[in-house]
Amino acid sequence: MSDVSGAAASWAAVGRARDTGGDPFFRRITGRPAPGEVLVEGMLAINAASGDYLGLASDPRVREAAAAAARDLGASCSGSPLVIGTWSVHAQLAEELADFLQRPAVLLAATGFQANLTLACLFGEDRAVIADRHIHASLVDALRLGAAKNRRFRHNTPRHLAQLLEEASGQGLSPVVLTEGAFSLGGELAVLPEIADLGGRHAAMLIVDGAHDIGVLGPSGRGAGEHLGCEQKIDVLTGTFSKAFGAGGGFIAGSSELIEHCRVFGHAAVYSASMPPPTAAAALAALHIIRDESERRAVLSHLAHRLHDGLAELGHVRPNWASPIVALPAGDADQCLHTWRAMLEAGVFVAPFLPPGVPPGQSRLRLSVTAAHTDAHIDHILEVVGQFLPSGDTAGVAAEPVPCPAS
Ligand code: PMP
Repeated sequence: MSDVSGAAASWAAVGRARDTGGDPFFRRITGRPAPGEVLVEGMLAINAASGDYLGLASDPRVREAAAAAARDLGASCSGSPLVIGTWSVHAQLAEELADFLQRPAVLLAATGFQANLTLACLFGEDRAVIADRHIHASLVDALRLGAAKNRRFRHNTPRHLAQLLEEASGQGLSPVVLTEGAFSLGGELAVLPEIADLGGRHAAMLIVDGAHDIGVLGPSGRGAGEHLGCEQKIDVLTGTFSKAFGAGGGFIAGSSELIEHCRVFGHAAVYSASMPPPTAAAALAALHIIRDESERRAVLSHLAHRLHDGLAELGHVRPNWASPIVALPAGDADQCLHTWRAMLEAGVFVAPFLPPGVPPGQSRLRLSVTAAHTDAHIDHILEVVGQFLPSGDTAGVAAEPVPCPAS
């Protein structure tokens, strides 16, 4: 079989990397010695691979909330939300999150992935789901589980979305538009105002996965919709507590009727054991910090701008987006893994992305900044990027929308 997506080549490259310098994936994290740093199998590195954007996973208040819940309530609910898994802490989290997001209702799920899978119950055969080509694997799986006709529009390209919306209307199907707010690989923001306007013209339901932007973007932290001034046009938000909230678990936020439908038909959320009480308590403590301490977003924004400015000085293209994620071109899978390893040895832990997650020959190294970093961390990251990823002739690839066969 031909290796069109590049998956086999990546797998072979991972094997070679494993033989020479250790497996790049499933690396064992052996400690968290200081905010923004990790021990990777004993090697001290700046953690530039984490989604803990506000540094809340190690905030003493979040840790203490988890510890107190573990002491008072135990380590697990040992049951699904439907039967024995909705405890006061879950109810409070769902209510306060709905309030924060200014949505009528919220349904919790054990992970962000499961929250997205739950969306399958909205994708009936009378619907056409038109999704961005770069959506996360959990949304791709929700499309597979659902009965709706589904089409993919070119990444962040409203013109193509418009064409697919026209086609869906012509077929008498009710349209649903599905996208992420800030995209997980490159951090670019969806052009939500245009997408929302187009959707509105076709009476489409707009669903936005805010995994990487809720808590991070917008003056109040409500995400990309708030940041871009169009949040009222978003019908359904999904998200995770594993990134900006520094905890774990996921959610869907929307109208009361929609959430009621998900409570009845959303198998992934309601037939799987609930978020463990310590995790729910940690998410609740984090929600209070996200709501009350906007200065954390200011610190994050300062550090993200420093990183973007520094990368621009090194000759990498400055992205025109505001999120703390950036993905740098790193050549083919072997080159990418070689650079990844060299950066780790130089004290910077980043995330490698290989085909089929990216197109063949266009592997990336993703860097993420968090509020737990310091200016000195950013300086060191830039120094190491300058040493191992001189922009060269691949510069600019990261700023282009690319087809992503795997998603
Ligand atoms: N959506 C997006 C866009 C993601 O990047 C992720 C995780 N990387 C998820 C959903 C799933 O979230 P979780 O890891 O909390 O299950």
